[in-house]
Amino acid sequence: MKSPYKNINEVHIEITNMCNLSCTYCYAETLLPDKQIKNLFTNELYRDTITKMLLESKSDFLDIVFHGGEPLLHTPEWFEEACTFATSKANQLGKKVYFSMQSNLTLLKNAHVESFKKHQVKVGVSLDGDKETHNAMRGNFGVTVANMKKLQDAGLFGGVIVVISHHNWNKIPLFFKQMEELGIRIFHMNIASSVGRGNSMELLGTEKTFRAFKDCVDCMLKYKGEIVDTRMIKKLQQFINPPQSTEETFQQLRCDNLFCHAGVTMIAVQNDGNVFPCGCAGSSGNMKNFKLDNFRDTRETNPVDYFELLKKFHTKKEKYYNECVHCPAKFVCEHGCPAFDHTDPETPENTCLATKQLYSYLQTIDRSLIVELISIHESKSRALV
Ligand code: SF4
Ligand code: SF4
Repeated sequence: MKSPYKNINEVHIEITNMCNLSCTYCYAETLLPDKQIKNLFTNELYRDTITKMLLESKSDFLDIVFHGGEPLLHTPEWFEEACTFATSKANQLGKKVYFSMQSNLTLLKNAHVESFKKHQVKVGVSLDGDKETHNAMRGNFGVTVANMKKLQDAGLFGGVIVVISHHNWNKIPLFFKQMEELGIRIFHMNIASSVGRGNSMELLGTEKTFRAFKDCVDCMLKYKGEIVDTRMIKKLQQFINPPQSTEETFQQLRCDNLFCHAGVTMIAVQNDGNVFPCGCAGSSGNMKNFKLDNFRDTRETNPVDYFELLKKFHTKKEKYYNECVHCPAKFVCEHGCPAFDHTDPETPENTCLATKQLYSYLQTIDRSLIVELISIHESKSRALV
């Protein structure tokens, strides 16, 4: 039987579903001070997962992403062994492995940094905005920034993710100022969806979502490409140069594309062995309906069942065929996220309306300014390669 993992080049290792913080929009379980850290990813499950991916995928590289909950709840020794194992296994097979992590950076120890240096583990951080906004949401700004600097000095800093929700939608200019002070050029902006603990969260709505989009464009223009949201710059690139064919769109299965890479070139494995198309919602939201496999179960996975389920996960709503295909804003649109949209239909509708407003707003901006911004960004990105 053919393996369903033959195209996988990225695996998210969901170290734990627990986190030491409790941000309102997040799905992870809060680790209360009197609670034991339990169910961390075991060495055995990790070794089986990595071996399976390296053997069954035809890709000559594997991106290993340590995710959570909070991955730094695991010890430096665990990461040292995990990275050594994957590197050695990949070497035996003539392949490469690359490591990264997404963390709140409040639990980083010097021993973690030493091991990450040895294995070149790039660490990305979640920031909610400037100091005041970040502290109001999750606290520990000072610790997070001090640890970020340690990683910047070691050349291991992997970038910033900012989740836009009810607490920071109108603070984008302060966020850009904070990025400037921290010497960070690139970030990734996500609009929060209702999921897990975030189910009771106040939704952002159309106007606030549009305001966040607009302020982001205005700030990118103001900072002349020195500070850039990777999602917004792609929208601007497609606004100026729309894809010429559907094939072009299919060539880049990304998070912010019409179809994403979840389950196709990427999987997420949880500490109980369950395999999901993506780690973005843990096993909450719509994701819980799409368990593709379990790596503790030794029975062989039927690729037909795997791809049938995956097809259902990526199925577009009627709206896509009735409206999106004709919509002038479709190239500045991210077309939602299959993990969240079915359980939270309001956020994608609000984002759709905000996207149409964004498209109208972009038409009022002098095109040469957008072209200049894209060109500065592209030349800076080339210089870093
Ligand atoms: S499921 Fe959602 S978060 Fe995950 S890759 Fe797809 S679009 Fe991105
Ligand atoms: S803006 Fe709305 S209607 Fe237009 S392509 Fe996006 S989701 Fe579809």
